[in-house]
Amino acid sequence: MSDCLFCKIIAGDIPSETVYEDERLVVFRDINPKAEVHLLVIPRQHIASLEEVTPEQDALLAHMLRFMPQLAKSQGLEDGFRTIINTGKEGGQIIFHLHMHLLGGKDLPGFE
Ligand code: AMP
Ligand code: ZN
Repeated sequence: MSDCLFCKIIAGDIPSETVYEDERLVVFRDINPKAEVHLLVIPRQHIASLEEVTPEQDALLAHMLRFMPQLAKSQGLEDGFRTIINTGKEGGQIIFHLHMHLLGGKDLPGFE
């Protein structure tokens, strides 16, 4: 998707502070962190939102979720973390490339 910000980050056209990547995922720091640690986990494949996921992508989603505890620990979050997926305009989604927020450490926000 040529006009997608996160696809541009994956392509290296827009800089980001990447902390991890593999053949399916890229992880980078949120530009406007809401907690001490605030990462975005995104698939390399452009998927607009959770609403667009197909059964063929089940393994990809499982990989993203199953990777979270290991990612959190790599950031020093030994006692837990929060995972958020905003979906659609009314779900607070601003960037329409599927992403999972990983938040933790000091200043972890509530749901309010
Ligand atoms: P969402 O509301 O779930 O769509 O979240 C989008 C997130 O992307 C927000 O937390 C933004 O701070 C973050 N964001 C926007 N632009 C960038 C960027 N260039 N680099 C890193 N994070 C970004
Ligand atoms: Zn994209």
